[in-house]
Amino acid sequence: MAQYQTLLYYCYSPIENAEKFAEDHLEFCKSLGLLGRIIVAEEGLNGTVSGTPEACKAYMEHVHADPRFAKTEFKVDDVEELSFIKMHCRYKEEIVHSGLRNPAEIDPNKQTGKHLEPKDFLAMKDQEDVVILDVRSNYEHNVGRFKNAVTLDIENFREFPEKVKELEHLKGKKILTYCTGGIKCEKASALLLKEGFEDVYQLHGGIIKYGKEAAGEDFEGECYVFDNRVTVPVNSVNPTVVSTCKNCGKITSKMINCANPICNEHFTQCDECGWELDGCCSDACKSHPKKREYDGTGYYVKVPQPVNIEKISKRKHKKLVKN
Ligand SMILES: [Zn+2]
Ligand SMILES: [Zn+2]
Repeated sequence: MAQYQTLLYYCYSPIENAEKFAEDHLEFCKSLGLLGRIIVAEEGLNGTVSGTPEACKAYMEHVHADPRFAKTEFKVDDVEELSFIKMHCRYKEEIVHSGLRNPAEIDPNKQTGKHLEPKDFLAMKDQEDVVILDVRSNYEHNVGRFKNAVTLDIENFREFPEKVKELEHLKGKKILTYCTGGIKCEKASALLLKEGFEDVYQLHGGIIKYGKEAAGEDFEGECYVFDNRVTVPVNSVNPTVVSTCKNCGKITSKMINCANPICNEHFTQCDECGWELDGCCSDACKSHPKKREYDGTGYYVKVPQPVNIEKISKRKHKKLVKN
């Protein structure tokens, strides 16, 4: 048995008093010694947590024992090290920030794209009238995506609703959406249906489940994940690398954060350039006084960012409005 496991899951299911739920849930996770990131909203749960196999098992049993989350599907990965350094469980307005003015308009529990299991997705994806749509952001699809997928030039899923307008020409085709673990597709496909796309499907369980059940066939590059691993390989049938080093253009799947914490750019860089630039995106960042020490991974524990007056005043304003 592996030393640790990392779980990825979501569940769209109404939660009353979600803020209180988030607090209690955090305590519970801490009591099990789990590390990770969980988002709780009135619409459900979304999380990635890492811990010992025993802790993970206890966690999954606890979640499944709650009738609201009985149908939650966990994607379980064996890992050598814990994938997080802290345990966060936070309340937010949505479990995936879609930026829809009225998130209630889109309710995956009421209407969403037809779920395709990995094997069915594989069988269908190359048919003539099918379009594979990647609903993820640039930094994700840059490092890996399905062969022939339509990708969107977005920095955040929030921008997805705007981008749908550019997809008008695909109306009439079968749209197969996919994302990392399936959670974004629940909303993305729901939105496509609302916008008049008629035949909309979604890859159930996302790329991660597709990697386990369809061996990742025709997925080019690696899958971006939201933890210390940064990317994970999913394709054991016909793997390729699609991303290139920002500095020299060589093929690489290694993603790092710029060692200059003020820049912190998230990009692909090959090992040679990494050592050459000491983990920075540029010479300017390399000589920055606050530059962090590069250990070859390009991953840094989050450091407090310099005070951003604008952000703080916005936050204060938000609080005032809430009260
Ligand atoms: Zn390079
Ligand atoms: Zn930089």
